[in-house]
Amino acid sequence: MKNIDKYLSLLDREVDGLLLTSRYSRHYGAEFDIAEGVAIVTRAGCRYFTDSRYIESAQKNIKGFEVLDVNQFTGYFQRLNDAIRDFGVHSLGYEERYLTVAELMGYEQKLNAKLIPFNQPIYGLRAVKEEWELDLMRKAQDIADKAFTEILAKIHPGMTELELQAELIYCMYRNGAQGLSFDPIVVSGPNTSLPHGVAGERVIQPGDFVTMDFGVLYHGYCSDMTRTVAVGFATDEMKRVYDVVLQAQLAGIAATRAGVKGCEVDAAARKVITDAGYGPYFGHGYGHSLGLEIHENPGCNTSGQVPMEVNMVASAEPGIYLPGKFGVRIEDVVIFKADGCENITHSPKNLMIV
Ligand code: ZN
Ligand code: ZN
Repeated sequence: MKNIDKYLSLLDREVDGLLLTSRYSRHYGAEFDIAEGVAIVTRAGCRYFTDSRYIESAQKNIKGFEVLDVNQFTGYFQRLNDAIRDFGVHSLGYEERYLTVAELMGYEQKLNAKLIPFNQPIYGLRAVKEEWELDLMRKAQDIADKAFTEILAKIHPGMTELELQAELIYCMYRNGAQGLSFDPIVVSGPNTSLPHGVAGERVIQPGDFVTMDFGVLYHGYCSDMTRTVAVGFATDEMKRVYDVVLQAQLAGIAATRAGVKGCEVDAAARKVITDAGYGPYFGHGYGHSLGLEIHENPGCNTSGQVPMEVNMVASAEPGIYLPGKFGVRIEDVVIFKADGCENITHSPKNLMIV
């Protein structure tokens, strides 16, 4: 099913048009990424507006929309009001998750249609992925896996976290990344107890854990993976904690299949960590969905009450973080299937000492 047809299926009940303002929702509907623009979707017609910086690419690549430019004489409000008149629109569903208050006030003052908050239906469509979307995510993950293989040979005592981060980013682009799905997390030694620490000038030393959480963009779709490796040697405590995190992740993955609630997947992994005595040191959720954005819904966390469906996607990323000492996180991305899941992350997970 084309994404534009999914959008059209939302119409006629509460709203007779959609006002797509976020880059993600425009990308989803047009199946092509344009940095700036606005789109309107109605049963009578669909239009996509952007300015001179993007208009040539938009007209060439966007299918299913009439693509028109905005300029100093004809702005977005006029283009939208023309479409509202031409298509007989009375009410437009908008994305309250992404609009600023000022932007919403502008639309409310200037548009000749009633505006209705409609983020959940618009955003919710993205939870179940089409096969072609999953292929782009598999490709993004393949690039990240290749980058990880290459970075293993480059980690050495004496380099700083920032130097390692630079090498990691280079490896991702060299292997085909079109962008980064987020700023990588590259932390070492005691900094690994910070789940979302930021790379700094700390020099990597023998006996450190190094945690790298990173992802690439491929045609707008995100990958996400984390590996924690030891430099030179690992103490018995480091090995024990690493093994608990790995067993927790494997338990979560074993519980992953369509029909199971996100909180049940989280609970399967969390039980392993709690039983080992580290419960208080696993403060975040087990996993989040992703796709065009690095964090999407529904998530596999303690509040995940939604039964997961075939071709939903989630990260599998338990961690243990011991303040002042070290932390471990291992993250893969899996696709929910009827009888289990497909793990699209292929890098090894045994404790590696580099
Ligand atoms: Zn991650
Ligand atoms: Zn993640």
